[in-house]
Amino acid sequence: MDPVRIEEAKRNAIQANCPQELFRLAELFTRLGVSLYAVGGLVRNSLLGLRITDIDICSAAPPDRVIELCRRNGLSVVPKGIDFGMVEIHAGEHHFEHTTFRSDSYAEGGAHRPSSVRFSPSLEEDSFRRDFSVNALYFDILSGEVFDPTGGLADLEAGLIRTTSRDPDAVLSDDGLRIMRLVRFASELGFGIENASLDSAKRLAGNLRAISAERIRDELLKILLSDVKYGERDAGKVFRGLDLLDRIGALDVILPELTLGRGILQKPQYHRYDVLGHCLHTAGEAEPTVPSRLAGLLHDVGKPVVRQRNGNMHGHDTEGAELAREILHRLRIDNKTVDSVVFAVRHHMYDLNNTAKDATLRRTFVRWGYERTLSVAALRTADVHGSGVITGRVATAERWKRVLAQMKEENVPFFERELACTGRDIIRWLDIPPGPAVADIKRRMLMHCAVRPQDNTPERLERLARDIAAS
Ligand code: ATP
Ligand code: MG
Repeated sequence: MDPVRIEEAKRNAIQANCPQELFRLAELFTRLGVSLYAVGGLVRNSLLGLRITDIDICSAAPPDRVIELCRRNGLSVVPKGIDFGMVEIHAGEHHFEHTTFRSDSYAEGGAHRPSSVRFSPSLEEDSFRRDFSVNALYFDILSGEVFDPTGGLADLEAGLIRTTSRDPDAVLSDDGLRIMRLVRFASELGFGIENASLDSAKRLAGNLRAISAERIRDELLKILLSDVKYGERDAGKVFRGLDLLDRIGALDVILPELTLGRGILQKPQYHRYDVLGHCLHTAGEAEPTVPSRLAGLLHDVGKPVVRQRNGNMHGHDTEGAELAREILHRLRIDNKTVDSVVFAVRHHMYDLNNTAKDATLRRTFVRWGYERTLSVAALRTADVHGSGVITGRVATAERWKRVLAQMKEENVPFFERELACTGRDIIRWLDIPPGPAVADIKRRMLMHCAVRPQDNTPERLERLARDIAAS
């Protein structure tokens, strides 16, 4: 297999992303009589002028020889998956993922793990077991030559994700996870998906059922944050990724509760999109953190169910919170994130019409807590932007943020421990035994100070405690 010609500037760009340790490692590999190659993100992103996130390398050397060579030369290695030829090599501050050239066989059904792996001396054979042509570009670290057995350079130029094989079904049916990866790379890189690959993904979306929830979760979260992987916040980019998942049919498999909203139209004065489209747009509009994007995605997930049950959408926030909890547990999202998302979904309809008085807002915000109030306000903003119709409702969120900022400035206590007295003080002042009455008084003090923070002094709280006890 011959190397391809590339411009000097491009070669330099790839070389510039190879740390010194990698050149030294490549020298070592010559002792095994093989060349060492960079592959995957390093080559692809260097050519696109994007930052690199990890360093994948490969060669014809079998894993045991790689391990022995590295250890003999003072490099520590972590066997990551010996059966699959994967070894992590630590050199200075860097670590490199080395995979021996191989060809994989898969059982039917699309499970991610190959049923058998055969190591191979051939770079070309290795390229065909990879997923997409733009990920299967090889850079010989010492000679600076580039190998492109699957047409990745042309696809990079055209901005297309295409499977390594001319028969996309063969690639996508082997490992269902590749369908998620297809969308993820298209979304992160802002690339199109080549037609045959897209059609194949549509045919094979059902294979995602064979993929573990953890792997689906990881790819879904990457799609939700695909705008900020290489650039600035971009709601349209995230929407596009999620919409691709929908058009392929992947969303029906991984988030069927959400796709029930497909085709459900809403009041045009508030909404341009159907319920599903609105959820996907809101996810994109949300702040670029996992909890915010998930909250945007799931905030209206209760609508289809309550609409079917009651003929209207009332109560979709409560229903949605329950559904969101179920979905997030199923996707193995960590508990802290689940709690934060469920809270935002549960309260995203609060004071929709902006009629609550300042005092009411202040007490609610203390009950919710500072961070959670911010997250509900942020979801409200994303919700309005994601509706495609900017209404006065965005002003509600602005008012919330103003009130919250003012509370912060006035040192409003958000926790009982921020009150200027303890339970013991209350017991002493009122000469009462410890118990629920004390807790109740503290709670009422906190609500009082939400509106009158100037009363958060020991003297005034003592007077307040006596007033509460007398009332
Ligand atoms: P990133 O910048 O996101 O790390 P990458 O292209 O390096 O992008 P990786 O997931 O690190 O992506 O994959 C590294 C290499 O392994 C790529 O060449 C890719 O084609 C291959 N690869 C990874 N996962 C799969 C898979 N499920 N099926 C086939 N090839 C895969
Ligand atoms: Mg990588």
